[in-house]
Amino acid sequence: MAENDDLKALIRTILDFPKPGIQFRDITTLLLDAQGFASAIARMAAATRGPVDLVAGIEARGFIFAAALAAPLNAGVLLIRKDGKLPGATIAEDYALEYGTDRIAVHEDALAPGQRVLLVDDLIATGGTARAAVRLLRKAGGLVEQAQFLVDLPDLGGADALRADGLAVDSLIG
Ligand code: IMP
Repeated sequence: MAENDDLKALIRTILDFPKPGIQFRDITTLLLDAQGFASAIARMAAATRGPVDLVAGIEARGFIFAAALAAPLNAGVLLIRKDGKLPGATIAEDYALEYGTDRIAVHEDALAPGQRVLLVDDLIATGGTARAAVRLLRKAGGLVEQAQFLVDLPDLGGADALRADGLAVDSLIG
């Protein structure tokens, strides 16, 4: 099985995307690699602490990891979508962007009270998105005690902020 350094070699950095000055970590190259993607999912599953009922993925790349983790963790998949995309009644949460705000949502009946949720996304940077997801899932009745990311950009402090919110946080590349 690939070591984490090998996984790191499967992602690439694209300069000036989506804006000048940004170094975008592109994980699509890891997804293209059968062994690399399988290894990433196996490692995330192995790092999961205790049983979970649901794996919650953040739109859009988080869906890929949540869906792949569901079977090995014997859990369902909960979609955290950009507001306006879900057909049923929703609960939403706002979060700050560099300029303005964004809003994510889940179906209001997606969670039974006390269900254990693992939050996953491809990458955590400032943590604004993941922290909003945790607030949303808790508001919806979920027990959210852990989060996993393929990539952590630790200099931006997101994982530490999530830990301060009471979560165990793991990432494979950081
Ligand atoms: P944060 O809210 O600043 O932690 O940003 C994390 C969110 O933005 C996640 O949903 C990521 O998918 C996305 N994101 C931010 N930077 C990158 C990047 O360099 N590569 C891939 N996704 C990114």
